[in-house]
Amino acid sequence: MKFISTRGKAPIVGFCDCVLSGLASDGGLYLPQFWPQISETEIASFANKQFTQIAFAIISRFCEGEINNEILANIINKSYENFTHPSVTPIVEIAPSHFVLELFHGPTLAFKDVAMQFLARLMNHILSEQNKRATIIGATSGDTGSAAIEAFKEQDNIDIFILHPKDRTSEIQRRQMTTVLNKNVFNIAIKGNFDDCQKIVKDLFTDENFRTDFSLSGVNSINWGRILAQITYYFKAGADLGAPFREIDFCVPTGNFGDIFAGYAAKKMGLPIRHLIIATNENDILARAINNGRYEIAKVIPTSSPSMDIQISSNFERLLFLSLEKDAEQLCSLMNSLKQSGKFTLPQNALRRIRKDFLAKSATQEEVNKTIARIYDNSNYLIDPHTAVAINIAEKLKDDKCQIISLATAHPAKFPDAVKNASGKTPKLPAFLADILYKEEKMQILPNDANLVKNFIAQNSRAKNQQNQLRG
Ligand SMILES: *Cc1c(COP(=O)(O)O)cnc(C)c1O
Repeated sequence: MKFISTRGKAPIVGFCDCVLSGLASDGGLYLPQFWPQISETEIASFANKQFTQIAFAIISRFCEGEINNEILANIINKSYENFTHPSVTPIVEIAPSHFVLELFHGPTLAFKDVAMQFLARLMNHILSEQNKRATIIGATSGDTGSAAIEAFKEQDNIDIFILHPKDRTSEIQRRQMTTVLNKNVFNIAIKGNFDDCQKIVKDLFTDENFRTDFSLSGVNSINWGRILAQITYYFKAGADLGAPFREIDFCVPTGNFGDIFAGYAAKKMGLPIRHLIIATNENDILARAINNGRYEIAKVIPTSSPSMDIQISSNFERLLFLSLEKDAEQLCSLMNSLKQSGKFTLPQNALRRIRKDFLAKSATQEEVNKTIARIYDNSNYLIDPHTAVAINIAEKLKDDKCQIISLATAHPAKFPDAVKNASGKTPKLPAFLADILYKEEKMQILPNDANLVKNFIAQNSRAKNQQNQLRG
């Protein structure tokens, strides 16, 4: 499979280059040249298959000719063997025809594990084939960092440096990162806030010499490898509920639009999805864009679902490009207007196409709290605030014609205070994390200064001068 950039000026690349580089050289996002088709017969056969077999059937369509089947199967099996549920991503019925797809059975209790576990092993394999090392750098306000660290800690061709704002994450969030003692894992606590951390990471990536010297790579949600790994559970859940013979709606708690774009890919590949429902919290840029046609940046409002507190939804660019029928020039002009004035108007044709597949709605903080309480009272089922956004909106939009699946993106124990506030019940950490408060921690505390971070990485990354290093 070959991949093209949404901005139209980067060379077409193969699967491995697409995954290793993340962002295209023209600043665009990669998309496959066409959508591979999964036939009805094959979808029907998924009903009797394991998650890993379905994942192989989907993922192999995109890397044929570049990754050997046996190796791919091995990467997939390893990625999901430490999920604590035998179905990996099970579904649970919470009301008639309303299901929850639990994506939080991975090592850090968040749906990001599903993609990150796979991406880390995939990148490590590609690097080791090419005799190369890479340095992963990222900033986190809590959740992405721990999912990345858990995924990369045993990948020997990669060193990972994660910056977090000192004393501004929860203790559990910090400890999920700092108690990983592997020698390729470096936690940096910056004396500053999350924006300071992000700014430092951006500074390092824009330093061309530093970026190439240390083969910097990112793990944010625009990497195609992450989206790809997320297509799998849409097919799994669909098959669990009778696809291809019955249509399904999916309701997805949305921030950067990576998760729901994977659902769109599944639909394009043949899964009979009726509507993809974009569920947002009070940071509702996407709900406004779909409903009134104007994509317009507003101030970020802090909510109890912080992973969806975003200003710009980066993966939306992928959908926009496709709904403009791959007109890269028009896409670039919309992105320029976004950069210059913080907004653009969706062209009528594009909006019409998007509305055929997508609905969008937002939930207020009060609605989210009430949903957590009600689902607990009625079904004795505790949900986290991100999941509650989806369930609240699914309840508003569901109809009798179609089953609906709400995606559960985090375990309630990741957000104990918000869940307890809303429901009166404190969620329990799973046993394998119960000793996290007593484990040894490893982290480096640094001032808010990009140069000092650069020095620290230079001293510790093994990617420098790698040609010599690996030869010698
Ligand atoms: C990242 C995240 C989301 C948002 O997913 P996107 O792919 O960015 O839309 C939702 N819920 C949780 C718990 C997350 O960590």
